Amino acid sequence: MSATESLVLVIEDEKPIRCFLRAYLERRDFQLIEAEDGEEGLALAAEHRPALVLLDLGLPGLDGVEVIRRLRGWSATPIIVISARGKEQDKVDALDAGADDYLTKPFGVAELAARMRVCLRHSATRSKDDQQGVYRSEELFVDLAKRQVRLNDREVRLTKIEFKLLSYLMQNVGKVVTHRQILKAVWDSDRADQLHYSRIYVRQLRSKIEPDAAAPRHLLTETGVGYRLVG
Ligand code: CA
Repeated sequence: MSATESLVLVIEDEKPIRCFLRAYLERRDFQLIEAEDGEEGLALAAEHRPALVLLDLGLPGLDGVEVIRRLRGWSATPIIVISARGKEQDKVDALDAGADDYLTKPFGVAELAARMRVCLRHSATRSKDDQQGVYRSEELFVDLAKRQVRLNDREVRLTKIEFKLLSYLMQNVGKVVTHRQILKAVWDSDRADQLHYSRIYVRQLRSKIEPDAAAPRHLLTETGVGYRLVG
């Protein structure tokens, strides 16, 4: 990892948590910069351009979700929310605002490290070639440009909507995407009464791209929040 690739900005008002994160992450060759509130966090992000942001939601002054919105105004840096707020709506709000992932306190450090790796890997691919549009696992192969989907070497035919949904999930591989984000991307709609569309079409898509739709391995449900295509 180069210096900038390993620079992590922690925005968290509780000192013990910042100390704990510093001790843990520095052992894993990350460099840390710390902010105690959202304003300071945004200033440090602009100045240092960190590779990743770890953000607490309950902050004095500027709220964490507002920090995400402002940061997303000019930065695509991955944001992992770390918060004591465990309510599903809080997760949805943070993800809708542009966060990449979400961990609820108390969390395991191994899980944090795993989520960080996923975020950093995907942001590296995104900036390298703006997505190759190819998804490959043991049994599933997708090539967006050729509009080709194969499950266990058999061609799978998707409808236009299913293909659009899969494309959107692939653009966000590894990330949690909310029902609202899917509705906006696939149907260009903001209507709350259409939020169930994603559930219906994910079910359809799973029946075609999962070897066992009842136990999905690629397209996972984030309960009450949305879905995640595993990278
Ligand atoms: Ca806090």
